[in-house]
Amino acid sequence: MNYATENDWRRVVEFHGHVCPGLANGYRLAKAALQALGYESPEDGDLVTIAETDRCTIDPFQIVLGCTIGKGKLYMNTTGKQAFTVGCRKSGKAVRVVQLPYDYSAENEALTKKVMIGKATDAEHKRYKREREQRIQEILQAPTEALLKVEPVSVCLPEKLFIYSSPCCQYCGEQVMEPWARLHGGKISCIACAENAKP
Ligand SMILES: [Zn+2]
Ligand SMILES: [Zn+2]
Repeated sequence: MNYATENDWRRVVEFHGHVCPGLANGYRLAKAALQALGYESPEDGDLVTIAETDRCTIDPFQIVLGCTIGKGKLYMNTTGKQAFTVGCRKSGKAVRVVQLPYDYSAENEALTKKVMIGKATDAEHKRYKREREQRIQEILQAPTEALLKVEPVSVCLPEKLFIYSSPCCQYCGEQVMEPWARLHGGKISCIACAENAKP
């Protein structure tokens, strides 16, 4: 399959704002999770993602699986691994997808370092861009088992978002959702005013 021509890959790139190897990996991880759970499209299941990293790889989960923070479908459990657990609230099934180790050549790493610290020549910049583009295409086209592993897991998925009432802070007048409201000098207060305002 040529992922680069897929519509959702274009949407992922648009959302993320640039193309990078991390984004390509995240795209393949999200697609693999969807497939492992037996869904063609994320609307089929009520999916929730628990992410172990907050880097580029996380964004495709928001687009491909519809697991956005605002919908209460994306949770962080940062371990520094390129790994994501995706669960379905309907079926109770969950899988953990993990990116397999990949080593860039020492030469490539030296070049990346040069570019990062702004010491690369124009020719080196061109080579860096070319090699990076090559790697992105490799990731998009590699067989799944060469890129990532999928393991079934059993997890307790976070509860659906609850709608809270939002009383006004009696100090600053701003609304604050109930679990974050405090009592300060006998008045309803937001956290900032509870810490700073004179009762
Ligand atoms: Zn990126
Ligand atoms: Zn306040």
